[in-house]
Amino acid sequence: MAEQKATNIHWHAGNLSREDRWRDLKARGATLWFTGLSASGKSTIASALEQHLVHLGIHCYRLDGDNIRHGLNKNLGFSAEDRAENIRRIGEVAKLFADSGSVALTSFISPYRKDRDLCRALHDKDAIPFIEVFVDTPIEVCEQRDPKGLYKKARAGEIKGFTGIDDPYEAPLKPELVLKPGVMSVEQSVAACLDLLRSRRIIA
Ligand code: ADP
Repeated sequence: MAEQKATNIHWHAGNLSREDRWRDLKARGATLWFTGLSASGKSTIASALEQHLVHLGIHCYRLDGDNIRHGLNKNLGFSAEDRAENIRRIGEVAKLFADSGSVALTSFISPYRKDRDLCRALHDKDAIPFIEVFVDTPIEVCEQRDPKGLYKKARAGEIKGFTGIDDPYEAPLKPELVLKPGVMSVEQSVAACLDLLRSRRIIA
């Protein structure tokens, strides 16, 4: 957990409770946390789901690993410490989106269980739904797809600390949903996400 540096700061609750906000906006916020190996399909599935939800009129926003590293997290690399800070910031940002009534879709490898659990705890503390989606594609399939040529570079020793090659991926122990893009189409994965969102009453 990051330390609190500033002192003499006070939480301002505003005039609206979350309940009032969500009711008046006719929205329910949540975070769908996609985790899995590079090239497992997180961004592809999250993008397709985002498009589908927005077409249904549901406010939804995708936070994507590489995109966030271009901006908010541009000062972070891939050391274990930086990966942890990367995920902590995303957890906080996703929670803000969810609190605002949006469905936040995060697509990050997020290889370490303790970092993901910290994000879950952040949401649990304020009773905001956190749904962990394990994008469970075998590494052989990811490596064969290799859309960005990263596995090739990692195998050649040009990238150090690459998840699944010389850095561990810790699979979720109790994810709310497991997708198998090795055998499921993108459409099937999206349908599974929609079913889960409906069963949790996040969308109607
Ligand atoms: P990640 O975000 O996990 O790094 P990407 O979504 O960027 O993964 O890349 C996954 C690649 O696999 C894409 O090129 C995508 O088109 C391809 N792909 C093939 N079949 C599937 C599937 N069933 N589900 C998701 N992606 C798939």
